[in-house]
Amino acid sequence: MRLTRYFLPVLKENPAEAQIVSHRYMLRAGMIKQQAAGIYSWLPLGFKVLKRIEEIVHEEQARAGHIPLLMPTLQPADLWRESGRYDDYGQEMLRIKDRQGRDMLYGPTNEEMITDIFRAHVGSYKDLPLTLYHIQWKFRDEMRPRFGVMRGREFLMKDGYNFDLTKEDALHAYNRHLVSYLRTYERMGLQAIPMRADSGPIGGDDTHEFLVLAETGESEVFYDSAVTDISLGARDIAYDDKAQCQAVMEEFTSLYARTDETHDEAAFNAIPEERRKSARGIEVGQIFYFGTKYSDAMGANVVTPDGGKVPVHMGSHGIGVSRLLGAIIEASHDEKGIIWPEGVTPFHCGIVNLKQGDADVDGACEGIYKALKKAGLDPLYDDRDDRAGAKFATMDLIGLPWRITVGPRGLKNGVVELTSRRTGESVEMTAEAAVARVVAIYAGL
Ligand code: ATP
Ligand code: MG
Repeated sequence: MRLTRYFLPVLKENPAEAQIVSHRYMLRAGMIKQQAAGIYSWLPLGFKVLKRIEEIVHEEQARAGHIPLLMPTLQPADLWRESGRYDDYGQEMLRIKDRQGRDMLYGPTNEEMITDIFRAHVGSYKDLPLTLYHIQWKFRDEMRPRFGVMRGREFLMKDGYNFDLTKEDALHAYNRHLVSYLRTYERMGLQAIPMRADSGPIGGDDTHEFLVLAETGESEVFYDSAVTDISLGARDIAYDDKAQCQAVMEEFTSLYARTDETHDEAAFNAIPEERRKSARGIEVGQIFYFGTKYSDAMGANVVTPDGGKVPVHMGSHGIGVSRLLGAIIEASHDEKGIIWPEGVTPFHCGIVNLKQGDADVDGACEGIYKALKKAGLDPLYDDRDDRAGAKFATMDLIGLPWRITVGPRGLKNGVVELTSRRTGESVEMTAEAAVARVVAIYAGL
C-alpha cells in the first residue's frame, strides 16, 4: 500500500478522552473512531489488525479440529426463556422489540442458540465429539464502557461450544481449548496465563480465564512467578491425544495463578515469598465446562451406544478478539507508539522515502516495494512529500516491526537502512539484502 492512496487519519494531539495507552494509540494511529459510548468504527488500519487476529484464531481452531459457523447477532428472547437466562441476565442485555411486538435481544453470548442448533440436528453419540464456534459481534450494555476496545459495549468475540457424550470427553474438549488458546495467544506475541476463575452467569465449576499481565488490567491477580517462565513454544500437539492435552493443561495450571474471585490466601502464602506476585491483568479469554446445564434445560439429548438417551455434556470457550488489540498494545509499546508483534502487524514492513521526487530514491523505493510484494508481503510505502521527521513519527506511532529507510546519501554508497521498531537498531545493507532479511523474518513465523 502506498500511503498517499491509503486512509490513515493520524492524530497529532493526544485525545483527552483516552485514559490508557492502548486507547490513546489506537485513536492517534487512526485505527478506530468512537460512534457512541463503547461502540466503534474500525478504520482501515485497525480493521486490518482485527482481521489478522481473527485469522490466527481461525487457524488455531482449525488445528484443534473445531468447526466454524456463523450465528446471527439478533436472537429471539424465547430461546433465553427456555434456559431461564432471559430474566437472569439483567441490564447488560440489550432488549429489542420487532415490529410484530416480538421480544428480541442482541446476543451477549450464544449458549442457547448453539444448543438449539444442536438439538435440531444431532441426536446420536455417533455425531460426537463436536465443537462448533463462530467469531461474531456481541453486545453487552456495560455499565462503564471504557478504555476503548478493551471494554466496549459492541465487541467481537470468538465463542466456541463443545458437545460430548461423557464428562470425560467434555473435559478433554476443555483441555484441548486450553492448549489451543495458549498457542493462539503466543502467536500474537502475548503471554496469557490461565488462571482459576469464577464462572459467573454462564454457570459451571471448571473454568479458567486467560490473563495478560498489564498495569492497566481491570482484574486483580495472584500468581507464582514460575508460571511466567513456561511457554508452549513450537512443540507438536496432537489435539486428539487426551493424555497429551491433559499433561499440558496440568503443566500450565498446577502452579498457583488465580483471579481475586478465587484467590486463597493460605494457598498463596505457601509459595516461596520471592515467587509470590500480585498484579493486574487483562482477561483475553475464558474456558468453561458446565456439564448438562443447557442441554437439560433445552432438551439437547443424544442416543447412547446402548440405546439410552442422555443430555449432552457441554462447555463454552471465548476469546475477546477486539479486546486483544488493546491488550497487545498495552503489552507492547513505547513512548513513541505501538510496537506490533510480527504475528499481528497490519503491514509487514514500512518503507520511508527520505527524498520524494529524487529519481534515484524514488526508483529504489519502488524496487523495494515491488520486491516485498512479489515475496507475498504487505509493505506500507510512505511516498508522501513530507519531512523525514514526520515520516518517522508516523511509522513509529503505527508500530510496524520493520522499516526500510532510503535516502540519497546511503544510495550513493549502495545502501539503505533496515530498522527494528522494537530495539531501534538500524543496520545498513543493500536494498536486496534488506528485502531478503525482512522476507526471511516472516518466513520463519
Ligand atoms: P469481563 O469480566 O471482562 O466483563 P466476561 O468474563 O464477562 O468479561 P466472557 O463472557 O468470558 O466475558 O467473554 C469472553 C471474552 O470476551 C472475555 O474473556 C473478554 O476477553 C471478552 N469481553 C468480554 N466483555 C467484553 C467487553 N465488554 N468488551 C470487550 N471484550 C469483552
Ligand atoms: Mg470471562
